[in-house]
Amino acid sequence: MLPLVALVGRPNVGKSTLFNALTRTRDALVHDQPGVTRDRHYGVARPEDQRHFAVVDTGGIAEASEGLAGATTRQARAAAEEADLILFIVDARDGANALDDDILKWLRKADKRTLLVINKIDGVSLNAVESEFAHYGFKDPITTSSAHRQGIDELMEAILENLPEEGVVDPLDTDPDRIRIAFIGRPNVGKSTLVNRLLGEERMIASEVPGTTRDSVAIDMEREGKPYRLVDTAGLRRKSKVDEAVEKFSAFKTLQAIEQCQVAVVMLDAGEGVTDQDASVLGYALDAGRALVIAVNKWDGQTEYQRQQTEDLLSRKLAFVPWAERVRISAKHGSGLLELFRAVHRAHRSATTPISTSEATKALEIAYETNPPAVVRGHVAKMRFCHPSGLNPPTFVVHGTRLKTLQESYKRYLENFFRKRFKLIGTPVQFIFKDSA
Ligand code: GDP
Ligand code: GDP
Repeated sequence: MLPLVALVGRPNVGKSTLFNALTRTRDALVHDQPGVTRDRHYGVARPEDQRHFAVVDTGGIAEASEGLAGATTRQARAAAEEADLILFIVDARDGANALDDDILKWLRKADKRTLLVINKIDGVSLNAVESEFAHYGFKDPITTSSAHRQGIDELMEAILENLPEEGVVDPLDTDPDRIRIAFIGRPNVGKSTLVNRLLGEERMIASEVPGTTRDSVAIDMEREGKPYRLVDTAGLRRKSKVDEAVEKFSAFKTLQAIEQCQVAVVMLDAGEGVTDQDASVLGYALDAGRALVIAVNKWDGQTEYQRQQTEDLLSRKLAFVPWAERVRISAKHGSGLLELFRAVHRAHRSATTPISTSEATKALEIAYETNPPAVVRGHVAKMRFCHPSGLNPPTFVVHGTRLKTLQESYKRYLENFFRKRFKLIGTPVQFIFKDSA
């Protein structure tokens, strides 16, 4: 499970700068490109070889929904209450002020594990700053200059030390035959209808898997003799709780579901195209490098003319994920589900089947010979070998010289070449280029 860290503080102390410093990975799989929007209030920090965690900028939430009311608004509090750890951010340049005191009062009542982060320490005296905030009573405050990425590593370390213990690892999570699927999407696209249909249909063996933390629920099921686990999704939870008809979209739950699954099925409503919230859900799945299937639901409600229009619109709006299969379904009537599960299997196989170094190097050689890279200022990139460095998503490390001169178009060519050769459908593919000296 992803733990959640909330950034709390009055406006302008540097929360969103800190949020970016924590959640922006250097080798982001997917760079900002047209079509991918993100909810900038929630993100995932992925420190190398360490536990991943979600981060929420509560100030962002408050400002977006309630004007500039600051960090003590209802929305911000609700987000902080959901968190496992709170970072209370203050401004070293301004010193402690009345708003900070208010927030502190509320934090004391909330009784959550909290770290004090003194930001903007660039150009101020550390001693003076620490004594300024000493009366707040935090042991070991962390000092940062987030705008200059100073103190971020120390902060990261402190966060990791203060996260709750990790839940017991579920042995089924390593069961290669049981594909873990998350049905994600904004409210009303039809997630619960689909899940209920899947569970009701064919008298599948469905059993609830007790969640390791909080109210999480996963359900194991079989379909045509194959075992699956549906990870915690809105659709699953709504079944058991009455008041969840009013459940509001939770970006955090979506992040968690994505983190736990191997294949994310992003559901869209055929009648609505791709809304900003849909694009945001897709962005989260891409950031996590998940195998992906796009299920266009409510296909039954469309006339032939509308279907054509919808296809055209989706092709345009989803041009940034050309590798993701799109399946038309009706959760209501149960149509398209065979195709949906086939696509899930293709995506899963693509994301998890190992490729050997010799196979990858062979592919690289053929790609290179068929179409060598362009000469840049009298030099041409040489590629020596390629070793697969990971799965889910498949990752290839290309070794050679002058690889920095490779153009984006050539990198795309390589990716497409590998996709074709290894039949990689429905998963992101990552290339890392390593220049040997
Ligand atoms: P938020 O309202 O708490 O989210 O604050 P922002 O992240 O938007 O930052 C407010 C302003 O402070 C921006 O102009 C930032 O560039 C600036 N800022 C953020 N962190 C630092 C820092 O470490 N040092 C300095 N000098 N300025 C910072
Ligand atoms: P969720 O919020 O994503 O879980 O969406 P629901 O499953 O609650 O569905 C929202 C609404 O869409 C409900 O009124 C459903 O009956 C309707 N709906 C779901 N799937 C379909 C479908 O395939 N076709 C049609 N026409 N309506 C559907």
